[in-house]
Amino acid sequence: MAEVKLNATVLSKVEIAPGLIVLRVRPEEQIKEFKPGQFTTLGLPGSAPRFEIADPEEEAPPPDKMIRRAYSISSASEKTDYLEFYITLIRSGSLTPRLFALKEGDPLFVAPKITGVFTLDEAPHESNLIMVATGTGLAPYMSMIRSIFSKQTHRKYAIIHGARHSWDLGYRAELETLAEYFPTFAYQPIISRPDKEHTPWNGPKGYVQDQWKSGAVGKKWGFKPDASNSCVFLCGAPAMVEDMLTILASEGFKEHKKKDPGNVFVERFW
Ligand SMILES: Cc1cc2nc3c(=O)[nH]c(=O)nc-3n(C[C@H](O)[C@H](O)[C@H](O)COP(=O)(O)OP(=O)(O)OC[C@H]3O[C@@H](n4cnc5c(N)ncnc54)[C@H](O)[C@@H]3O)c2cc1C
Repeated sequence: MAEVKLNATVLSKVEIAPGLIVLRVRPEEQIKEFKPGQFTTLGLPGSAPRFEIADPEEEAPPPDKMIRRAYSISSASEKTDYLEFYITLIRSGSLTPRLFALKEGDPLFVAPKITGVFTLDEAPHESNLIMVATGTGLAPYMSMIRSIFSKQTHRKYAIIHGARHSWDLGYRAELETLAEYFPTFAYQPIISRPDKEHTPWNGPKGYVQDQWKSGAVGKKWGFKPDASNSCVFLCGAPAMVEDMLTILASEGFKEHKKKDPGNVFVERFW
């Protein structure tokens, strides 16, 4: 028996592409107020089964050891009946193979505390927002967009989302719909392995860095986003984050630090 109580239930688990799930969980207790962009901790005991296609563990963890990891919340902050997460399978990992084996109605641990500083709090109210993500780094932006888009209509928004294949572009339909209806919203997915597509991909090819450098956000907005009018959020693979920081610094942007404010906000997943 795990020492920590499994205090939440899986409401739904949708495998949107091989190795990518959108997981909705309902905590037993009332969800505490949170800010879009924040994260919480999910956990399962070592005794929980692993997803069938995951790598076998070299050494199994003790059955009652709670394996915990941080996950950004992708649901809107007004949603008080469930929390949603966008999770990628790490086949050799400890927790994700167990999360992928969950079924509707299964119990899991969700930390009651929701925390993190990757929020819109310190982005000036008048700034336009550019959100750059690779893979599941999109999760915090889904919460931001779902929570504030309809309320903060004075800004322009852009999401640049990079993935290997088009089928790995989670939430694409929702984001394309928003972009279709609202000229203030630029959704720019880019894929790095177009040669593997089943039907030809006519969108941008390469990495999110290429998409930023192409100036496509400015073309959609009708003016060039720069350090005086926009904030940039970076979330996902560390190599992308470091690369984007260098590119942005050469354009006059600066990483935000608590004691040294800037206009680039960063979340590193590992
Ligand atoms: C603040 C924060 C928020 C996070 N939010 C999310 C989220 O919304 N969705 C999500 O899928 N993960 C997220 N993560 C990563 C998550 O906490 C775990 O590290 C990840 O799920 C792997 O757990 P694991 O036990 O299966 O692998 P582990 O056994 O812990 O192996 C970890 C290794 O897996 C790799 N890795 C970790 N995360 C990823 C990833 N997303 N993509 C590719 N490789 C990765 C790295 O090489 C890392 O060293 C977040 C991490 C942090 C710190």
